[in-house]
Amino acid sequence: MIGMRLSRRALTFLLCMIVALCCAAAAVPAALAAQEGPVTISVPVDRCPIFYQDADTGEIVGIGVDLMRAAAESAGLAVEFQVIGEETLKDALDNERYDLLMPFGSAIASASSRASVVSDNLIQTPFTLVTLGKRNLSALNDLRVGMPHSLGGVAETVRQLYPGIEIVMYESMAGSVRALRAGAVDALLHNSYVWSYVLQKPSYSDLRVQPSAMFSMDFRAGTLDTPAGRAIIERLNGGIAALSDTRRQAVVLDYTSRRLYRYGLVDYLYQYGLILLLVLMLFVSLIVITLQKIRTVRMEQAEKMRRLIDHDPLTGVYSLNGFRKRAEELLRAHPDVPYLISYNNIKDFKYINDTLGRAAGDDLLRFWVDKSMETLTEDEAMGRIESDHFAVLRRVGGEALLIRDGEDVFAPVRNFFIDQGKGNRVQICSGIYVLTPKDYQQIDVDHMLDFARLAERKVRDTYKDGYGFYNPDQWEKGKRAADVVSHLPVAIDTGEFQVWYQPQVNYDTGEITGAEALCRWNHARLGWLRPAEFIPMLEEAGLIFELDCYVWDRVCQDLQRWNRMGLRRSVSVNLSRCDIREGGDIPGHFCDLIQTYGLTPDQLRIEITETAYVENPALLIQTTVRLRELGFQVEMDDFGSGYSSLHMLKEVQVDRIKLDLYFLTETGDPEKGRVIINYMIQMGRSLGMSLIAEGVENVAQARFLQSVGCSEMQGFYFYKPMTVQDFEHLIENDDRVPPEL
Ligand code: C2E
Ligand code: MG
Ligand code: MG
Repeated sequence: MIGMRLSRRALTFLLCMIVALCCAAAAVPAALAAQEGPVTISVPVDRCPIFYQDADTGEIVGIGVDLMRAAAESAGLAVEFQVIGEETLKDALDNERYDLLMPFGSAIASASSRASVVSDNLIQTPFTLVTLGKRNLSALNDLRVGMPHSLGGVAETVRQLYPGIEIVMYESMAGSVRALRAGAVDALLHNSYVWSYVLQKPSYSDLRVQPSAMFSMDFRAGTLDTPAGRAIIERLNGGIAALSDTRRQAVVLDYTSRRLYRYGLVDYLYQYGLILLLVLMLFVSLIVITLQKIRTVRMEQAEKMRRLIDHDPLTGVYSLNGFRKRAEELLRAHPDVPYLISYNNIKDFKYINDTLGRAAGDDLLRFWVDKSMETLTEDEAMGRIESDHFAVLRRVGGEALLIRDGEDVFAPVRNFFIDQGKGNRVQICSGIYVLTPKDYQQIDVDHMLDFARLAERKVRDTYKDGYGFYNPDQWEKGKRAADVVSHLPVAIDTGEFQVWYQPQVNYDTGEITGAEALCRWNHARLGWLRPAEFIPMLEEAGLIFELDCYVWDRVCQDLQRWNRMGLRRSVSVNLSRCDIREGGDIPGHFCDLIQTYGLTPDQLRIEITETAYVENPALLIQTTVRLRELGFQVEMDDFGSGYSSLHMLKEVQVDRIKLDLYFLTETGDPEKGRVIINYMIQMGRSLGMSLIAEGVENVAQARFLQSVGCSEMQGFYFYKPMTVQDFEHLIENDDRVPPEL
């Protein structure tokens, strides 16, 4: 019975045990069955190559992932990885949403002190110390070691392994490296695989691995110690056990042999910083040099341009522009120095170029400059204003300086060609303007040059060379001339010009034999102007031809009208010396006129002054010959009043000589005058030319002229110049000079 009772008890116990075992056995699949979908394994991703996110796919990869997948696969578990959101493994343990966590070295308590359960070791992971440069470390137990905060679990295991070690946690790997460099810790501790990655960073090249201080730690998965947790771990352990060492090593080799570290900008800067800096410096230097070069070239070009603008390329002295600037500069710098400006001009330079060649002309200009520069001081200046015109700003040095300049500069220049055996003496006209105190207050170099130029022109107009001083009256005259000249076109259009006639008479018969056409100008603003004033002004301005054409045309109109009225007459017209110019065709012009108005050439007597001969004898001779061939009468006006009358008389063939009687009235012995006139008349007659005397003012002159055989006369004694209406009235009535005159 007892045996039966015992065996019944034993049977009951056995049955209970079997039920309990069955229940326990059934609890694992039940826990796993409760797990829907894959097991989530949460890992940190800050420790490449163990756990990290692939830069391209964002997928969580690494040695830990591959080993875990291999183990899970063997265990028939589907797994997926996610990033741990908590700062430490201890905190993460309390988060029940995670099925598994990694990595664990050993089981640790959660932050809320709950126990954990860990898997078998997946792999033995080496841990290494890293120091700044090479160092001999003392035993691990005595060290102060730095670690990133995320390795909290590892730190706890290390503390258990090496109780004497002091571990300081830092926010990040970078923070711990900074602490190491600052000497806050002796070394840094981390997984060797992680070091193999981290130390690829160029800026960590000063960190050294301490192989001697290496130790290994387990690498496990873990979770809270719950039935479900334990079940998963149990299942996983089966897979881990199935992992071969070869597989484990292959996974490690796969990751540690890859160059996983990717260079960022900072790394490149660190690695190639020096080279980059050098390249940058080179580049900057090149830019600086190039800019400098451009600046220099620009400055050189500007200087060249300035030199070109400010200097005369032929002689090297200032150009007008340069002279203006330099003179202003000097006058500003030396307001107390008395200065003068001279304007110098070679007379007939054109002919020097034509006859001796341009090169000879250039030589002369350079010689002049060389001679001048020998005498000029630093505070004086010389400029070439135009072709052969030079201006000089010179200190006033009295007559002595003028004489010295005459000897040292002007005399050698004048004799330049003579000294070379080429003969001609160079004529130079100079105008001098002495600056007034006002000129220093209001510096106007152009104005001063105008004054000096005016004085030069005065010298030139005398047909001599030499120098003359500026006279303020000249300036007023110049202004009036500009005023008068600019009004010419309007004056012609509005009929301000009139042609007056001064009758010419035969004193023997009292008959009016002709007339001289004289121009009169009733200026709208200035009133009646004398020809003696406006004719030279227009000649100077190059406008006299315009006026003469107008006068000739009016004369021809009058002649045509008189012809039609049966009052056929011949009229003398004045031809300015300026009308006879190269390229002009005076004979052709007169031909056209007589054709237009139906006149005969003998009705026009063309008066030419001897100044025309002085200026261009060849052209004058050619013009007179042609005019006479065409049938026009040519008269030599103002004979006896000039300087080369006899010469002209010899060279130029004219029909009539107009004796100028004005010099009879001038001071001197009247008897001598009469003798001269007598001989002039004889001479003209001997040369086969007829004569007319002009400027006859009284009966004595008329009788004297008659007595010496010159009966043709013109003068106030007979008639003053009169309007066309008066003259027409005179010839219409066939008036004669009263015999008692
Ligand atoms: P000219 O050709 O010798 O003309 C004669 C000048 O002597 C005229 O002066 C006339 O009025 C003046 N005259 C005539 N008889 C006497 C007299 O008895 N005593 C004095 N003291 N003078 C007398 P006008 O008209 O003032 O002309 C001056 C000069 O102007 C002329 O001298 C001539 O060279 C020039 N001229 C006048 N009209 C023209 C013109 O239309 N064209 C050009 N190119 N020149 C002109
Ligand atoms: Mg005349
Ligand atoms: Mg005359």
